Amino acid sequence: MDIMLGDRNAFSLTKPWVESNGKVAKGAREPGTRSSVIHMSRGYVDAMRMYFNNDPTLTELGRFINDTQYLASIPIEDTICINEDSAIARSTILFEDTLVHELTHAISGAYFNIIPLRTPGVPSHHHVYEPFFAGDRCNETGHAISSYIFRGNPIGLCQWNIPQNYSSRWLQQHIGPLGLYWPDKWDTWFEDQGEKDSCKPRAVDPVEHRALQRLFPVPQSHINTMFSHQLWHDEIYRFGLDAVRMPRMDKWSAEWTPMGMEKGIWGTGREKWNDGPHPAPASPGTQSDDGGVAL
Ligand SMILES: [Zn+2]
Repeated sequence: MDIMLGDRNAFSLTKPWVESNGKVAKGAREPGTRSSVIHMSRGYVDAMRMYFNNDPTLTELGRFINDTQYLASIPIEDTICINEDSAIARSTILFEDTLVHELTHAISGAYFNIIPLRTPGVPSHHHVYEPFFAGDRCNETGHAISSYIFRGNPIGLCQWNIPQNYSSRWLQQHIGPLGLYWPDKWDTWFEDQGEKDSCKPRAVDPVEHRALQRLFPVPQSHINTMFSHQLWHDEIYRFGLDAVRMPRMDKWSAEWTPMGMEKGIWGTGREKWNDGPHPAPASPGTQSDDGGVAL
């Protein structure tokens, strides 16, 4: 088990079952096949070990949270007490969302032939053959089902800058020490990789570089509700998925374009862009978050 963000840019992987003789069996790759195996990133287990403070090689969770605030250049008077229980609850939500994501791939793989097909006269390609859903540019059922169930894909808010190393960023992406957010559309910035890579979703339209993505924070109260007896024994029956869907907090949302793709900086609206009518405010210390996605 390893942290897959470094080498696979993923929080988990779904693979065909491997027989005891080491040969790859026919996994869930076409109708009538049997099973898939889901590999989860070790980062979620690390988060639990940090929470229980029972791994001498890992920082204790509370220390990690506070260090992240410090390294994000948040003035000492503005730092807040983020307790470990809230952080491990967010990590559990990220884990659960990743598991739902991969289960969807496995179930989809049992019904759709996702082996790349060869079309005469058309260059070979390695796209995943998964269904498209209305309104989506890409066929990535994991993201699609997550957005359907929770209204969006929850992502850990990250701060990453010198002197932090990659493992710090990866841990943040599994824990969300500073909170969670979700983008209004999961596939706004997905590029069609064509032949460059394997098992990537197809994109039917090119990326619209001037399109904005709107990011919404996930209130901790909603995270806490997800663990409540009342939700799973009452509200889920009365309100269905509306009981678990993340609230859309427009007034706390931010528009964003990835760095290097289009001019713009973090902010709460166009008026705070650096090409706006007024001098832009200093860029906040919290810079990077490229929204690592699970595939
Ligand atoms: Zn996926």
